Amino acid sequence: MSHVPTFPVTETLSSDSLDVACDGGDGGLGHPTVYLHIKPETGYVVCPYCSRKYEATEKALSHTGH
Ligand SMILES: [Zn+2]
Repeated sequence: MSHVPTFPVTETLSSDSLDVACDGGDGGLGHPTVYLHIKPETGYVVCPYCSRKYEATEKALSHTGH
């Protein structure tokens, strides 16, 4: 009960790239396409329009070339 998410995440998706394009998908949550960048430090980004959470896969993170 004490762990309230920072964002009201509606859905979590995996991405093989650190750059993702979100248009809200099907249904009533659609919005103009926006491009989001996943920060390697956090490994995810939340779309400010539809609150979908995009999580980078290990494959995506391995491309950052540490
Ligand atoms: Zn979105």
